Parts: sequence; C-alpha cells; structure tokens
Amino acid sequence: VPSTVERREEASVVMGKVAVAFAAAAVLVSCSVAAVMVGRRIKSRAKWRAVVEILKEMEEASDTPVGRLRQVVDAMAVEMHAGLASEGGSKLKMLLTFVHHLPNGTEKGTYYALHLGGTYFRILRVHLGGERSYLDVQDVERHPIPSHLMNSTSEVLFNFLAFSMERFIEKEGKESNSQGVKRELAFTFSFPVKHSSISSGVLIKWTKGFEISEMVGKDVAECLQGALNRRGLDIHVAALVNDTVGALSLGYYHDPDTVVAVVFGTGSNACYLERTDAIIKSQGLLTTSGSMVVNMEWGNFWSSHLPRTSYDIDLDAESSNPNDMGFEKIIAGLYLGDIVRRVILRMSQVSDIFGPTSPMLSEPYVLRTNSVSAMHEDDTPELQEVARILKDLGVSEVPLKVRKLVVKICDVVTRRAGRLAAAGIAGILKKIGRDGSGGITSGRSRSEMRMQKRTVVAVEGGLYMNYTMFREYMEEALVEILGEEVSQYVVVKAMEDGSSIGSALLVASLQS
Ligand code: ADP
Ligand code: MG
Repeated sequence: VPSTVERREEASVVMGKVAVAFAAAAVLVSCSVAAVMVGRRIKSRAKWRAVVEILKEMEEASDTPVGRLRQVVDAMAVEMHAGLASEGGSKLKMLLTFVHHLPNGTEKGTYYALHLGGTYFRILRVHLGGERSYLDVQDVERHPIPSHLMNSTSEVLFNFLAFSMERFIEKEGKESNSQGVKRELAFTFSFPVKHSSISSGVLIKWTKGFEISEMVGKDVAECLQGALNRRGLDIHVAALVNDTVGALSLGYYHDPDTVVAVVFGTGSNACYLERTDAIIKSQGLLTTSGSMVVNMEWGNFWSSHLPRTSYDIDLDAESSNPNDMGFEKIIAGLYLGDIVRRVILRMSQVSDIFGPTSPMLSEPYVLRTNSVSAMHEDDTPELQEVARILKDLGVSEVPLKVRKLVVKICDVVTRRAGRLAAAGIAGILKKIGRDGSGGITSGRSRSEMRMQKRTVVAVEGGLYMNYTMFREYMEEALVEILGEEVSQYVVVKAMEDGSSIGSALLVASLQS
C-alpha cells in the first residue's frame, strides 16, 4: 500500500501531466482564437472600409459647392420664365392664384381657416380689429391627419373635415359668434390646384403620399362646401388658398416688403408676387391689377445640376408618385428621413457594424425626419439619443464610432437639403430682380447696390421651424450665394402657422 506521501506524489505527477496537456491545449486554443480574431479584425476593417466608401460616395454625390448652387439658381429662374410663358412650358406649373391683393392690416371681423397639410390638419379662428396690432389668433387646433384618409375617398376625406369643423364650432362659446351669422372660412389646401377664381379650382394631382385618384379633376372648394352643407353648417368657403399663399398673406400683413413665401414641412413649395404682364400664358385673361401671386409648385422643379444619389433614385421609384416632385424629394420633411434610412440600410447590408440587418430598416418611412433632427442635434457625450432611435429601428448596441457615422449621414442629407432650398429661394429673387445681379447688366456700381430693395421672404413649415441645422444650412448658403452685401437686404422671416392664419387674413381682405 503506498504511503500517503507517495500517493500524493503520484497524484501530483498525474496532475502535472494533465496540467501540461491543459496548457498545451490552451496554447492551441488561444492560438486559434487569436487567428480567428485577427481574421475578424481584418474582415471588420475591410467592412468598415466598405462603409466609409458608401459614406464617401453619397457625400460626393450630394455635394453642393456654391458654383453648383448658382447653376441651380439660374435653372430655377429659367424654369420660372418657361412656366409663365406657356402652359406646360416647364416642370414648374407656375399656377395662377387669382390673388391680386394681400391683406394690409385694415381688415376687421372674425374669420376661420381649415388647413389640410401633408401631415396635419389645422383649424383656427382669427379676430381682427382693423389695425395690424389687433390680430388675435384664437383656438388653434392641430391634429395629425388619420393615415387611412390619405387613400380613402374624397367623400370620406371631406366628411371628416366637415365633422372636425363642426366640433370646432361647437366648442366656441355661443357669445363668440352671434347666432345666425354666416361664418367665412378659408380652405388652406397644400396640394396643386388649377384655379378658376380665388374660391374655386380643381385638384391637379396628389403629392406627399396622398392617393385618392377619383378626387383629381374635382373642385376642391366645392367638395368642402358640399360636406359642410350636408352637416347643416352655415359656413361659407370664401377662398381656396395654397399654404404658401397663406404664409405670404401673413408675411405681407405684418410687413409689405414680403413678396416671397416658402414652406418647408412635409412637402415644400413657394409662391411670390409677380407682375401680371410677366404671366405671358394668361395675357388677356388678367386685366384687373398689376400683380398676382403665383404658386410655383416648386416641389416639381428639376435640373440636371441638382445633386442626386442612388438613394434618391430608389426612393423616387418606390414612391406613390414616381418621376414627380423631384426637388421636393430631396429637400422636404417627408423624405429626408427616408433617405437617411436607405443609407443606413445599405451600410447594414455590406457590413455588420449595425449588427444583423434589422428588418425594420427595410420599412419605407419608418425613420421620420423628426428623428433625423433629434440624432443630428444630439449633444449628449455618448450620443444617447442616436442609440435610442437606432434601438427603435431594431438596431441595438452600436459603438460610439457607428453612432457618429449615423450623425454624419444625417448631416450630409440635411446639408444638401438646406443648401438647395437656399438656391431655390435665390432663384426666385433672381427672377424678380432682387438678387442684386441688376438684371442682365453685370458690373454693378455701389450706388446701384444702395438702390437694392429690401425683400422679405416668409418661411414656414415644421421642417424649417423645428430643425435648427436645416435652417442654419439654408441661411448660410443664402448668404454664400447672394454675397454679404445683397444678403443685408434679404430678410428671412419665420411665420409660425402662417399658412393657416394668413389664409384667414386673405379671406378677411376679400370682404373689405
Ligand atoms: P404639414 O406639412 O402637414 O403642413 P408641418 O408644416 O408642421 O405640417 O410639417 C410637418 C413636417 O415637418 C413633419 O412631417 C416633418 O417632416 C417635419 N418636422 C416636424 N418636426 C420636425 C423636427 N423636429 N425635426 C425635423 N423635421 C420636423
Ligand atoms: Mg404645411
């Protein structure tokens, strides 16, 4: 029987052998782990390179140096001329609004506005005391448009609007509007309309994802009036107003140097005050006044100078209105989020930096532009907001480096949008001779510069009002394009709810 000492020795020999074997195995294992890790690192470096390549590519394709912006400015001015020269002469429809006079501050009374936007509908009432300072905006209601209405029928849509109007009226105190007095309503409608008067016009086409085909060609004001009548409401649709025209009206009401209005919301559009004799396509038709507001429908602007990426091309092809609204699809709120989503999806497909590709990333429009601005303007050190929003898209636990990459994507997309928006505005200024270029004659003198008129551009819409970086890129580019000196004469003024309030003011101005 071996002694305990021997047994212990034996045991230690055995253990020693095991330990050696273990150690050897461990070396082998760690070698192969290291090999795998080195391999992975090489692969992940290659994948990271692929991602950086994608970023670089989209950045180059989105580039907007001031030279290119100037080409866009010129193209915008040229297209405006063409659209005014003949019906169908340009992608810019340059639609007549039959608005010859804008509210000037002397209006009196109580008026209503019902506004169908791209995402929200709004109802409000204004009370006017006959002086600019007596503008009282009351009971502003703002609700998201229920999404099922966007592809329902015109009857369902207008019944809903009439119903909402009825509820609004019911909430008013009986005192606020003496019984038996007809209410005057502005219908602010953010879609292209061919007007036959200020209070009538037919829908040309839907945009911004609306798809009620049977509505195209119908009179929009008549549809609303019919729905209001069916509910027994004593409300008169006194004007059918494009949202940009509403914003222009509010701008002008406060400041008569306002001659241009632009909306950057779900969609984008602009209008401006044009000399009647420059509206060549309607000569003879328009005799009453020296000027008319023209609704450009600039969302449909296109020029080969516009920077376009593969993501834009795919977005357009898969949209409800392919080959349409090209400018809108690179500058407006409905689309910026989806461009960013497409870039992230692409990167996620060529690499694992976003983990396994989240199926949610393939869902059109899941990434909203509000989230883009929240990520872009995330000022937490670890980019917590970016992490949170990515997590909502089914992408979790991405390292800081990847979060920074996402911020960069947002920046590229929004910078391009803001800068092109500025080029659009400068194009209008050029068309009306307010860009300091002094028309065809070049080489302007100092005294000519001093004669430059002050020009106010009224701007509104959720994208502009809420996305600081968009606004800053736009304003910065406008100065770049116009130059410091001319820029001093161009004032960009934000008009919160301008479309709706201004439309009510416009109706008021029609009564006086
Ligand atoms: P509508 O287009 O219905 O008239 P708005 O003018 O309020 O409505 O614009 C709404 C759009 O503005 C949203 O769909 C979104 O694209 C954009 N938007 C709203 N808030 C923000 C935000 N915080 N950041 C970026 N975009 C925003
Ligand atoms: Mg709007």
